[in-house]
Amino acid sequence: MSPESKTQGTMLLISGPSGSGKSTICKRLLEDSRVVFSVSATTRTKREGEVDGRDYYFLSVEEFKAKRAAGEFLESAEVYGNLYGTLRGPMQEAIAKGFIYLVEIDVQGAMQLLAGKEEGIYVFIAPPSMKELEARLRGRGSETPESLERRLGKAEDEYRERKRYDHVIVNDNLDDAVTEVRRIAGLDTKTESAGS
Ligand code: ADP
Ligand code: 5GP
Repeated sequence: MSPESKTQGTMLLISGPSGSGKSTICKRLLEDSRVVFSVSATTRTKREGEVDGRDYYFLSVEEFKAKRAAGEFLESAEVYGNLYGTLRGPMQEAIAKGFIYLVEIDVQGAMQLLAGKEEGIYVFIAPPSMKELEARLRGRGSETPESLERRLGKAEDEYRERKRYDHVIVNDNLDDAVTEVRRIAGLDTKTESAGS
């Protein structure tokens, strides 16, 4: 499970507007055994098919606030009415073992990690256009007219922050976007561990 390299791993942060393709790209990156996913904590309700501890740690608002008060989060943010947070402990552990630690978070969370000078590779996933972003959000079938409107409105503000990231990748062709993130993370050159 652990990569063969004895060197430190790194945080690979993937952020961008809702619907830009973060989850889709992360799923592809996770096919590589050198990459582990940062399981966030959230107060939102579990969606069908989601598993506690795999997709998220589903917490009550009280539990979340207690962890936040105890300093267990590297960052936390309210996103579309629910609380989300990145846990500090698992990230430090995975990076010490040499893994690429994949953190998929919203733009506010990424700004907090940047402000805290958290080391890592910061990648902004941009949609090819606002029109295409709208088409993808509609196509995903996850939004009400109101939530679609909110996400599109927020996307414009989020897009302005892209210059603060190390890399901006336009997710037009999915394979190309995944190849580019893999290259940035050094996953195209290093040898993958045995069994994969
Ligand atoms: P996010 O995690 O950023 O909210 P998703 O990964 O859920 O976005 O992607 C939003 C929708 O767009 C999904 O239905 C997904 O299948 C689709 N999608 C993602 N990348 C592409 C792409 N390169 N071309 C076309 N559709 C895409
Ligand atoms: P969803 O509820 O659809 O899985 O995620 C909603 C939004 O919350 C997405 O933009 C996702 O990237 C973001 N998110 C997920 N986990 C975290 C986290 O730990 N911190 C922050 N700031 N955002 C998160």
